[in-house]
Amino acid sequence: HQYTDKQWWNITDFQSSFPKRKENSHKGTHGRGLVIGGNHLMPGSVMMTTRAAVRSGAGLTTTGTSKSVISMMASSCNESMYIPIQEQEGYLSGASEIDYSVYDAVAIGMGIGRKKVTQKLIQETITAAKGILLVDADGLYHLKDQLNELKSRQKPTILTPHPGEMATLLDVTISEILQKPFSFSKEFAMEYGVYLVLKGKFTIITSPTGRQVVESGGNPGLAKGGSGDVLSGIILAMVMQDQPIFEAICNACYLHSASADNLVKEKHSVYDLTATDIIEGIPNVLRTLT
Ligand code: AMP
Ligand code: MG
Repeated sequence: HQYTDKQWWNITDFQSSFPKRKENSHKGTHGRGLVIGGNHLMPGSVMMTTRAAVRSGAGLTTTGTSKSVISMMASSCNESMYIPIQEQEGYLSGASEIDYSVYDAVAIGMGIGRKKVTQKLIQETITAAKGILLVDADGLYHLKDQLNELKSRQKPTILTPHPGEMATLLDVTISEILQKPFSFSKEFAMEYGVYLVLKGKFTIITSPTGRQVVESGGNPGLAKGGSGDVLSGIILAMVMQDQPIFEAICNACYLHSASADNLVKEKHSVYDLTATDIIEGIPNVLRTLT
């Protein structure tokens, strides 16, 4: 019913709009991305976001996190650069010494935790990040009291909540969101001027002007910690490519789902599929579909 008159993002949309990589391109052409997140008890999220961004074509990827997380990440994520962010008892705290002006896009929030000390860093990032900003996971929790700050951003803002995070942002119940996902998304995206990715079996992507697209790939193998962190990394990479941002977000969602679907068809099952597998499944989708 609610879904019937909607535009669905399918394989034809993906293939016809996926940006070509020019022969003479260099790393600057493909974007400088920054991923900020992690805490001492959750080093994996920011690592998966970073690796997903690297795998999805970002030109240069930097990770801003605590020193302890950097030391855990650095050996398994060779392609990223690192910026240590001040921490208090293992949680990132502001203010940092990040030069936000050099990044085309920043993704913040994965594994960042809900400690009060982190709030300032989120605040700083919203105002200091001059490029595209993506807020995910616990970053959305901190964002709740500063949503109005988003209205004064000059460059696009992308929020990627699952229904639980969306419910927290809006102070309603999850079942209310699930009953009217399109109208909640549209109202929110238009009010705050953001691109909203409401994730789930049917992921609804809404633009600040109220355009809505549904991406329905993927499988229950994605219903596991870490899948969303991988999606954030893919979106970060895709929005820095030569393509309108709305299409880039739709293509990122498609790539994430297609990776999971291929893997379940060819070598995994919905039981064992991990978020890390989804990153490793990206190459096959890119090789065969683009
Ligand atoms: P998160 O809850 O932040 O880890 O995000 C989960 C990711 O996996 C989102 O991209 C969802 O769209 C996707 N996902 C979770 N469960 C399913 C499912 N049953 N079918 C398809 N996609 C799913
Ligand atoms: Mg998540």
